[in-house]
Amino acid sequence: MPIKPEIAALKDDMKTWRRDLHRHPETAFEEFRTADIVAEKLESWGIEVDRGMATTGVVGTLRGKGGGNRAIGLRADMDALDMTEKNDFDHRSTIPGKMHGCGHDGHTAMLLGAASYLSKSREFDGLVHFIFQPAEENEGGGRVMVEEGLFHKFPVEGVYGLHNTPGIPVGQVGLRSGPAMAAFDVFEITINAKGAHGAMPHTGNDAIVIASQIVTALQSIVSRRTNPLDSAVVSVTQIHAGDTWNVLPENAVIRGTARSFRPEVHDMLEREIETIGRGICTAFGATLDFRYERRYPALVNSEQESLLAAAVAAKVVGKENVNANAAPKMGSEDFAYMLQESPGCYIWLGNGAEGELGGCAIHNPYYDFNDEIAVLGASYWAELVETALPMKG
Ligand SMILES: [Zn+2]
Ligand SMILES: [Zn+2]
Repeated sequence: MPIKPEIAALKDDMKTWRRDLHRHPETAFEEFRTADIVAEKLESWGIEVDRGMATTGVVGTLRGKGGGNRAIGLRADMDALDMTEKNDFDHRSTIPGKMHGCGHDGHTAMLLGAASYLSKSREFDGLVHFIFQPAEENEGGGRVMVEEGLFHKFPVEGVYGLHNTPGIPVGQVGLRSGPAMAAFDVFEITINAKGAHGAMPHTGNDAIVIASQIVTALQSIVSRRTNPLDSAVVSVTQIHAGDTWNVLPENAVIRGTARSFRPEVHDMLEREIETIGRGICTAFGATLDFRYERRYPALVNSEQESLLAAAVAAKVVGKENVNANAAPKMGSEDFAYMLQESPGCYIWLGNGAEGELGGCAIHNPYYDFNDEIAVLGASYWAELVETALPMKG
């Protein structure tokens, strides 16, 4: 199916909106300018707007021509990252230390494009809620919206998300039914040992040697505690200890992240990281403070909604360009919280093959959203609404 001319005509608008957002990146729960722009545009198209959920969240509600009350939600994230952009094009970030390094500027522009088109055509029967959420990166703005009653206030029978994906060529889409992105946890192990003179190690018990044993032993959780048919990651990403050459420190701190898909594996990782940390500390005569935080749950797409998303994507890019059995990713997404409350599906929209325009990885200082895909994303949203909430007759 060719792209609707009304949506193709929005290409330049979406590019302008997107590049303006790129110049003015805002991070977790501080997306005030972005939210103002989103709300203002939605209202200008006659879409009812709710503001303030999760501080900067915006929900637009549009009723189609049909009289029904079925409803679906479409979600875009609005936040940028705390990182310094290294691009030198005109629309580079004007805010030091902040950058749209994940393409949420593009996600916002595409959902606005779809809202603009749908507000004029309204060829659907029911309600669509355009959910613009803050703080997808690290802080769980999606979780906060759910906790603040997103789906009580705006009940839906399905909720849908998408993410631009460098490495997937323009014009291709990936998705999978079931677990698609991993649960994301963080842990911190503080070792309390007895410090000593560097020349007299026998008078203490050396937090650094204990930390080293723990880091090594943690590697056995994935290799020896995880069923080889399950996926898991335990990564130590920080070790902090010591201040000088000749003092054995009394404390060491190990921090890291754990990823998993299945609930049993999720529980096991938390349990084993603590067990290994405590066991080794005890063996070496030290104690431990243990902190484990479950940040994002695994993202699990429901079956019916995944079938629908695949069929709709095929209408936009052609069946041969939709991989409905894409490999799951060990990365995480706070859209997972919305999928815990409602059936739905999250898809990966190609941003460009590696080495081509849009191929630079997300969270890289040279990344940029590929404006060429905005028409595809907006078309996917519009088709999804018209397919999920079809007009009668
Ligand atoms: Zn990101
Ligand atoms: Zn992202």
